[in-house]
Amino acid sequence: MTNTLPTTIAVAGAGLLGRLLAWQLQKSDIQVTLFESGSFTPDTPQTNRAAAFTAAGMVAPLSEAVVSDEGVYRMGIFALQQWPAWFAQLPATTEPLFFNNGSLVVAHHQDTSELEQFERELGFVLPGCKGYQHVNQHDIHQLEPDLHSNFHTGLFLSEEGHVNNREFMRLIGDELLKLGTRIREFSPVETYPGKIVTEAGEEYFDLVIDCRGLGAKKQLRNLRGVRGETLHVETKEIHLQRPVRLMHPRYQLYVVPKPNHRFMIGATQIESEDRSPMTLQSSLELSSALYTLSPAFAEARIIEMDTNLRPAFMDNLPKVDVQDGLIVANGLFRHGYLLAPAVVENVLAHIFKKPEAVFSALLNQH
Ligand SMILES: Cc1cc2nc3c(=O)[nH]c(=O)nc-3n(C[C@H](O)[C@H](O)[C@H](O)COP(=O)(O)OP(=O)(O)OC[C@H]3O[C@@H](n4cnc5c(N)ncnc54)[C@H](O)[C@@H]3O)c2cc1C
Repeated sequence: MTNTLPTTIAVAGAGLLGRLLAWQLQKSDIQVTLFESGSFTPDTPQTNRAAAFTAAGMVAPLSEAVVSDEGVYRMGIFALQQWPAWFAQLPATTEPLFFNNGSLVVAHHQDTSELEQFERELGFVLPGCKGYQHVNQHDIHQLEPDLHSNFHTGLFLSEEGHVNNREFMRLIGDELLKLGTRIREFSPVETYPGKIVTEAGEEYFDLVIDCRGLGAKKQLRNLRGVRGETLHVETKEIHLQRPVRLMHPRYQLYVVPKPNHRFMIGATQIESEDRSPMTLQSSLELSSALYTLSPAFAEARIIEMDTNLRPAFMDNLPKVDVQDGLIVANGLFRHGYLLAPAVVENVLAHIFKKPEAVFSALLNQH
């Protein structure tokens, strides 16, 4: 990259990474133009909506270490500090944007081997890990009184948290407008060093940052989409303080409490780029597993079914590719909220020429 700081930056994609980067850069007095192929304020599930809107918003370094590696864990620990720091810079809201009540992992009696396997895998990725504690029936009841009383054993991961993600996406969108970011919605683009190509022609910038998630697939050939289906229900019959994961031999479900008596249940993980609506089988699996967490969910109203694709490289790890005039950040897979703080800090370190870009060894692979 050249030695002078850029004064005009184009960000392609107003999903999770795109909004965060545009926000941080615009606050540093750089003129940012944010291109989004769809609507900037998608209120309802729609084709090609950012995965950031579909996500559960969990920031779960330990739970996710089991399906990734120590690097992901370290970046996730960073996220647990960074999200509250960022939220402190946003206007106050009636609902908190970040919840740090930990998370609970449980299994039915006949599936306790799944819980043991989870713990073994955690010990394999993070030897000597002390970030969780075993809980018994009494502890589970203390933590989540509304869960079914037949859970005898579980793990409590006290440091994990979750983001009120749709509210955050809306709020940061408002902030960008207030700060004067140029928003260009319904503008699908292609990215090149120093150049954005829209349907209308070419536009030039000091720097282009490509945050198009799966929309970059044509240019990033090793990127793939991983289908995830989610269910949203509403009920006043049950209250949860934190995400609850249910270990099961065939499917692993999580329930994340959301504002206004809503719960998000997710998510399937299917190697397919099919964005069509949820299958009957997935809806049965998610809802029957939910019912086993507490029969009180039986009367819950289904208010939304959503499907989206997680952008992932072959190793399911994120990458930041830095060239002169173009930075590409992508591949956050099922870890967008977990890894975005590390990825954003890394990109900013490159732009502002901080001597040692954070998490370089983990992210900057070509
Ligand atoms: C079911 C599900 C559950 C999830 N749960 C979690 C979770 O609990 N915790 C967690 O950490 N992560 C979770 N994730 C993952 C997280 O949502 C993604 O990793 C994250 O959203 C990726 O961020 P991104 O900015 O790269 O892409 P996105 O958020 O998908 O944003 C990409 C944006 O680029 C736009 N775009 C695409 N093509 C173009 C183009 N040509 N021109 C302009 N704009 C374009 C898109 O419209 C979109 O707005 C989940 C994902 C799914 C699907």
